[in-house]
Amino acid sequence: MFDTLSDRLTAALQTLTRKGRLSDADIDATAREIRIALLEADVALGVVKTFIARIKERAKGAEVSQALNPAQQVVKIVNEELVGILGGETRRLNLAKTPPTVIMLAGLQGAGKTTLAGKLAMWLKKQGHAPLLVACDLQRPNAVTQLQVVGERAGVTTFAPEPGNGVGDPVDVARRAIAEAKHAQYDVVVVDTAGRLGVDEELMKQAADIRDAVQPDETLFVVDAMIGQDAVTTAEAFRDGVGFTGVVLTKLDGDARGGAALSVREVTGQPILFASNGEKLEDFDTFHPDRMASRILG
Ligand code: GDP
Repeated sequence: MFDTLSDRLTAALQTLTRKGRLSDADIDATAREIRIALLEADVALGVVKTFIARIKERAKGAEVSQALNPAQQVVKIVNEELVGILGGETRRLNLAKTPPTVIMLAGLQGAGKTTLAGKLAMWLKKQGHAPLLVACDLQRPNAVTQLQVVGERAGVTTFAPEPGNGVGDPVDVARRAIAEAKHAQYDVVVVDTAGRLGVDEELMKQAADIRDAVQPDETLFVVDAMIGQDAVTTAEAFRDGVGFTGVVLTKLDGDARGGAALSVREVTGQPILFASNGEKLEDFDTFHPDRMASRILG
């Protein structure tokens, strides 16, 4: 991901290095190249506009630096602004003062929620937590089994509905899972919820009902970075329908253009907490805006 964007940005910024002093026209020309590169990478238009306006304003008003030449100053500004749209500081997971911490996952079907649940559980375990996975995706055939499989791989317990006992009612499963976590001293509960192929009201209502029942400390919106501009509309629908406190980007290993990754924080106002970059449970880490910006700028 970001290969083309990275090449285009590097090329746009390289034209400046040949110049000693930068005129406003030089900056405008570079800003235009950066704008095209971002739009071609599927970054949301509103995000691109704000980004370019900030770059121009800062580059034209850039104070004379002893340490950096004008081109390096522009690179520095672009880097800082990229870190800014990616969220600035790394945002850590919010843990409840009184365990269990409840983390609810929401997103479209195929976004990578179930896989992510396993990754997150394994990551939490490594941090010294005792996580419990909860299967509340009762829509998709095999979703419960799939969660149990990733749970086993991650070496954590999965709470799943027993046949004839609450099957079909994810809210009931969620409630019982929290009671079980308190009883058996699991300190983090990760609730996997159902996702549909498209945003729909029933899905939103079900997710909102689960949210009301479990009162999550974090609701993480899981989004496939490969879906481009659709990521933004989906994120807005989930923000309005369920609400979320953080974003997890999945499939960053793909060859999509990456605009979703660059837009979602700015559009939803919520930070990106984690990133997934593969199908294996280890392909997962906390999200660092500064590292991602450096990767994009090459
Ligand atoms: P859910 O419907 O949201 O629960 O999605 P799943 O967890 O079932 O994932 C859908 C597909 O995406 C599966 O084939 C996963 O193996 C795959 N997947 C999940 N995360 C990643 C990732 O970060 N990179 C890649 N390449 N594939 C992923």
